[in-house]
Amino acid sequence: SYDTLAGRTAVVTGAASGMGEATARLLASHGVRVALLARRAERLAELAATIEKAGGQALAVAADVTDAASVDAAAERVHTAYGQVDLVVNAAGVMLPNPVTDGRADEWQRMLDTNVAGALRVIRAFTPDLIAVAEAGRTADLVNISSIGAHIAFPHYAVYGATKAALTYLSQSLRTELGPRDVRVTNIEPGLTDTELADHIDNAELAGQLGGMFDALTGLAADDIADLIAYTTSRARHVNLRQAIVLPTRQA
Ligand code: NDP
Repeated sequence: SYDTLAGRTAVVTGAASGMGEATARLLASHGVRVALLARRAERLAELAATIEKAGGQALAVAADVTDAASVDAAAERVHTAYGQVDLVVNAAGVMLPNPVTDGRADEWQRMLDTNVAGALRVIRAFTPDLIAVAEAGRTADLVNISSIGAHIAFPHYAVYGATKAALTYLSQSLRTELGPRDVRVTNIEPGLTDTELADHIDNAELAGQLGGMFDALTGLAADDIADLIAYTTSRARHVNLRQAIVLPTRQA
C-alpha cells in the first residue's frame, strides 16, 4: 500500500500536465503536501484547486527550470510555505525531434537546458533538504524521469536521447554521493506515454510518425507512471527500486 506516503512533502516539476500532473495528484491523494512547479501558472492554480477540493494540500509555484533565479525563488516560496521537502520529482522536460543535419541549435539548447541543466538546478535547490531529512531518520527521495530513449537510438531523436542518457547517468552517479547518506535516487525510463510531450514537435512528418506509433501500441497513461512513482517512494527507506524501465506491452 502507499500509506507510508502520508505526511510527506513533495516538489514536482512539470506539474502542469502529463506525468508531473498525474504524480502530484496521486501523491496528494495519499496525504502528501505537493508543491507544483511549471511555467503555466493557470494550469498549476487549477490543479491546486482540484487537489484541495479533494481534501489534499497543494501549492502552485510558477517557475522556469531553465532560469536559475526562477528555480531559487520557487525554492524559497516552497520553504516558506512547507519547510523542508522530502520528495523531489524531476518531470519537467521537452522533446523536440529533428534531423541533426538540420542544425536546430535552438531546439538543442532548449532540450539540454530543460532536461539536463533544469534537473540540476532543481537538484541544487532541494538536495540539502533531502540530506537533512535523511539525517533526521526520515525517508528522502529524488526521482528523475528519464526515458527509454536513454538506451534505444531512434532516428531524429539524437539530441533528446542524449539529454536522457545524461539524466540516467546523473542518477547513477548521484547515488554514489547520496546513497551512503540515505537519500534514495530513483531513475524512471518510460516508453510511449500519452501526454502533451508530442504537442511541441514542429516537424509534421515526425509528429505523424509518433501519432501512428500511439495508434499501433496503446501507449501508457500518465497515471501509470504516477503509480510507479508512488510505489517506489512508499517502500521502506532502505529499499531502492532504483532503475525502472516501463513500456507499453506492445512497444518493441
Ligand atoms: P508534458 O509535456 O505533458 O509535460 C512536461 C511538463 O514539463 C509540462 O508540465 C511543462 O509545463 C513542464 N516544463 C517544460 N518546460 C519547462 C520549463 N522550462 N520549466 C518548468 N517546467 C517546464 O510531457 P510528459 O508528461 O510526457 O513529460 C514528463 C517527462 O517524461 C519529460 O521529462 C519527458 O521527457 C519524459 N518522458 C516522456 C515520455 C512520453 O512518451 N510522454 C516517454 C519517456 C520520457 P509548462 O509548459 O507549463 O512549463
